[in-house]
Amino acid sequence: MRSTFTLGRIGGVKVGINWSVLVIAGLITVSLAGGILPATVAGRSDAEYLIGGVIGAIGLLGSILAHELGHALMGRRHGLEVESIPLWLFGGLAQLDGELPSARVEAKVAGIGPAISLFVGVVGVGAAFVFGTSSMAGALMGWLGLVNVVLAVFNLLPGAPLDGGRLLHAFIWGRTGDRHKATRSASAAGRVIGYGLMGIGLFQFMLGSVVGGLWTGTIAWVLVTAAGAEARHSQLQSGLSGLTIESVMEPREPVPDWLVVEEFVLRYVLPTRQSLFLLVGFDGRLSGYISIKDLARVNEDDRLIQPVRRYSRSLAEVPVVAPHEQAQQILNARQAAVSPVLALVIDGGDPVGLVTRSGLSGALERARLVGRRT
Ligand SMILES: [Zn+2]
Repeated sequence: MRSTFTLGRIGGVKVGINWSVLVIAGLITVSLAGGILPATVAGRSDAEYLIGGVIGAIGLLGSILAHELGHALMGRRHGLEVESIPLWLFGGLAQLDGELPSARVEAKVAGIGPAISLFVGVVGVGAAFVFGTSSMAGALMGWLGLVNVVLAVFNLLPGAPLDGGRLLHAFIWGRTGDRHKATRSASAAGRVIGYGLMGIGLFQFMLGSVVGGLWTGTIAWVLVTAAGAEARHSQLQSGLSGLTIESVMEPREPVPDWLVVEEFVLRYVLPTRQSLFLLVGFDGRLSGYISIKDLARVNEDDRLIQPVRRYSRSLAEVPVVAPHEQAQQILNARQAAVSPVLALVIDGGDPVGLVTRSGLSGALERARLVGRRT
């Protein structure tokens, strides 16, 4: 899930907001101002309920942010890379990059989020008792507290990608020392919980709660999908174990970026049958890469006059690896889902090849074949 815009940085972590959050904030404001607040705090004006609703929505987003920041900052403390927190529809699905060094660290990073939600929950409910729920402040605090308790409990359900699933993963990993087994179990549990929630959503739907049913169903669907993706990721990771970059990369000789498209196609694309090319500039430095798809999009008139450079893609965001390194680490680098290039392979200062999505799956199939024969 990508951030639509960036709010700012907290403790070095970029906080971004997805458009879906604004929709949710709007829905929360409406449900507070139009139902919950008037039912609890009597005799106020519509404007006051509306302001209360807005404050409640901001408070909820703030507490979700606190939960996520907890994960992020705890992760950072233990050397994990956390570039940003994307706040989105369901707020609480933490995504951390990089290898977790140990089950202990994983448990700490996963546990801190629900702990913060629970803390906010207790403080909120406590404040409601102190102020009384007939006051606007008390009602809002009580509501925020209850929602946070629910958030904490929901996130503690023991299935990936929920925090409880991470805790389960850490527990199995710690007990057995087998990460992949832990991932298989945690993601299987995640799918079970997801299907269970789907059942609950269907039940809600049949009982007439259309919005509630859709809501639960959506969360369930997100869980099932994410758990499946984690299982596949883990499969990929164990498939790549023991392989080096060299065995999964596609060797590439950089080719000149100043040729016009037509000439480039005749000289390089047709004879080599490659679909991705590393480009080098007139100054001898790598200038980017280009795919045959990019070339195919160039219109007829431009083919004869425009240099390939004009259509090239930047390598700035592409991770750089060396041939002797472990292939597994490719999976840790977060990449735009659309990029066909997973890594640029540099050996002693010279570009020697690319790791591509298709090349990687081919290498995996080969590894499986060889594995079966021995
Ligand atoms: Zn969390």
